[in-house]
Amino acid sequence: KKRILEKEYSRMNDMQRVAVFSNQGPLLILAGAGSGKTTVIVNRIAFLIKYGNAYNSAAVPPMVNEQTIAMLQAYLDKGEGDPEEIRNILAVNPPKPWNVLAITFTNKAAGELKNRLESVLGEAALDIWAGTFHSICVRILRREIGALGYDKSFTIYDTDDSVRVIKDCLKELNLSDKQFPPKQMLGAISRLKDEMTDPALAKTQAGGDYKQQKIADVYAQYTKKLKSANALDFDDIICCTVKLFEQFPEVLKAWQNRFAYVMVDEYQDTNHAQYRLVSLISASHKRICVVGDDDQSIYRFRGATIENILSFEHQFEHAEVIRLEQNYRSTQTILNAANAVIGHNTQRKGKELWTSNGAGEQVLVYRASDEMEEAAFIADTIEENVRLGHQYSEHAILYRMNAQSAQIERHFAKAAIPYRIIGGLRFYERKEVKDIIAYLSVINNPADSVRLKRIINEPKRGIGDATVAAAEEIAASLGDTLFQVLSESENYAALSRKAQPLKEFASLIRGFIDTAAETSLEVLFDSIVEETGYMRMLQAQGDEGLTRIENLNELKSNILKYVLENEDATLSGFLEEVSLLTDIDNYDADADAAVMMTMHSAKGLEFPFVFVVGMEEGIFPGMQVMYDPTEVEEERRLAYVAITRAKKRLYITNAASRMLFGQTMRNRPSRFLTEIPLEYKEETGLSVRASRQTVPTYTPPAYTPRNAVASAVSVGSVSKPAQQGVAYAAGERVNHKIFGNGMIISATPMGNDTLLEIAFETKGTKKIMANFTKLEKL
Ligand code: ATP
Ligand code: MG
Repeated sequence: KKRILEKEYSRMNDMQRVAVFSNQGPLLILAGAGSGKTTVIVNRIAFLIKYGNAYNSAAVPPMVNEQTIAMLQAYLDKGEGDPEEIRNILAVNPPKPWNVLAITFTNKAAGELKNRLESVLGEAALDIWAGTFHSICVRILRREIGALGYDKSFTIYDTDDSVRVIKDCLKELNLSDKQFPPKQMLGAISRLKDEMTDPALAKTQAGGDYKQQKIADVYAQYTKKLKSANALDFDDIICCTVKLFEQFPEVLKAWQNRFAYVMVDEYQDTNHAQYRLVSLISASHKRICVVGDDDQSIYRFRGATIENILSFEHQFEHAEVIRLEQNYRSTQTILNAANAVIGHNTQRKGKELWTSNGAGEQVLVYRASDEMEEAAFIADTIEENVRLGHQYSEHAILYRMNAQSAQIERHFAKAAIPYRIIGGLRFYERKEVKDIIAYLSVINNPADSVRLKRIINEPKRGIGDATVAAAEEIAASLGDTLFQVLSESENYAALSRKAQPLKEFASLIRGFIDTAAETSLEVLFDSIVEETGYMRMLQAQGDEGLTRIENLNELKSNILKYVLENEDATLSGFLEEVSLLTDIDNYDADADAAVMMTMHSAKGLEFPFVFVVGMEEGIFPGMQVMYDPTEVEEERRLAYVAITRAKKRLYITNAASRMLFGQTMRNRPSRFLTEIPLEYKEETGLSVRASRQTVPTYTPPAYTPRNAVASAVSVGSVSKPAQQGVAYAAGERVNHKIFGNGMIISATPMGNDTLLEIAFETKGTKKIMANFTKLEKL
């Protein structure tokens, strides 16, 4: 039997096999990126369910074999021994799929874990509880929360909901939301919950500290409100489960018996409450296996504590510790780069990764003159790889902040490169972006009542759904537009009560229509976000608002770029361009597509080709943390995570000048990039051009359509907007490098560019901007 098993798991290396087979006590697998930690979890579960725990790594006799089971059964029948104990042992021998609990950090990782289990175990895998901390706890609470005095149909409040509740609490407690910004209060409460501190304890701990006192008061009020609404926020989901287990031993016991095997992936990113949870579930049997990498701890800002992994050996007595050092994911060059970067951190246990995968190619570093050139480089490189036979889906683009995706999305959409955004919305699907686009659309066309309804009460103007419905009815009966009815709302009895805000809204829009006629698009943009109060609304939202403000600033960048690229820029022209970017036909959920995501959401994943973009001081590491050594170490761990996602080739890009958030900045290359020794990287783009020139620094020219082409062309073929000036007409036949032959169905001039709709023989119909595509006329 031993030989069969060893053969079945022969792909695993010796240490991995030890980890797969040793399943009786606490086990910590502490190992670097790509060393097979997640793979071990999958195989360990598969092994348990296929063969039970009858095999032990140290070639010791089976712990519980068929004979033992028969013996225990006999004891039970005779009434000897502790029946409960015996039943517990029997219940998990051999373990059933539902005896296994596997916890991972993201939904995407949980999905992959389930897929991999299903491919090894088939249907049985469906009964394994594999999910995130939150999804697992919600499942437990849906059954058990009655004990804590909630109803099982509890609602889950998202951050927006929670902030709203905090605002109410502040009002009731006569606290100003200037002095106590709601989002900050929520953060403080969240940290208290992570530490399992209840409102009463928070109050005691606050002592004479005024601010802490008030936080404790708001916390108490907030808790009361959620409870009476039968609602839980995200932190409650974990905390309530811990409370449930601590206060109701019999409930805990039942779940301990059920989950006889507990495994936690990405353990370095657990917080205190999560640690308490897994300790409780495994307290009776100690069959807990956690895997992690202290160098990949990147959620400190959310309360994660690396301590959980570093003190595992003390928290769980007799824990076995296994280290894995061989990396199976990447080339040696990629690992050398990763090792070099993380080597600059002082707060670490220290380990070096190696692989037998071979050296592979150099890390390709591309320094662009600006972010448009950066996007063009990424697009061109992907197209080239696809032409060589790779899939779009083998490519991942990783950035520090969501807002960085906008420029790349814009380029991809125009060049018809299929892409998907993981763990976030595409830029033009984000609420604040859609809202402002809706304003622009209504200004451009007041008859657009769909968009008008989107913004009529956004920000809040006291115009409710009923009022809007009444106005729509009037409009329908008169054959007028909704906007017209709003403008004359005082004439209609059904609207008289709300005539004031309705008329104000209509005149606000009319004001914008005048602004649009008199000034440039970016001025119009500014007056919309200011005069509607939209910006003020976001400013009051704290951290979350900040991200949204960044996105709006990024929208402004896009408007500015549109204006610069198009001599005859118009509002309707810009909206047309946006409609192309939001064209849903271009995106098929299952289609082969490049993926974009933040470095944080890439944790645990791997891709043959990885682009780490925006590697600049001020972006990564970010402006706010550049001078704080602890924070820089956290950012460096993030760089290590990003670099180690790559299997075959790593591309790192940055730009000498970048417009982000509506401002142009000039950033030096990131220190994380300089930390990679020259021997592992090949530099191209501006860095090469600059070194060939006698002038040491490069000053990008002011951006105009013409020198945009000139500067792009000077890079070589890499980022040349391909066919500036070529005229196309419907009916012409063309060839595209990847999509093959096709016929132009329509050619619509848009500014200085042309939107082509092309029916390809095998790849369907695509919309492509002529300047962003390499087409050959047939
Ligand atoms: P991370 O720290 O990034 O989460 P990890 O340690 O969880 O990485 P895995 O994702 O499990 O690593 O494995 C990385 C890659 O190596 C996967 O493609 C996996 O299939 C492969 N792999 C793991 N172990 C082996 C092995 N013994 N032989 C061959 N390939 C392996
Ligand atoms: Mg992993």
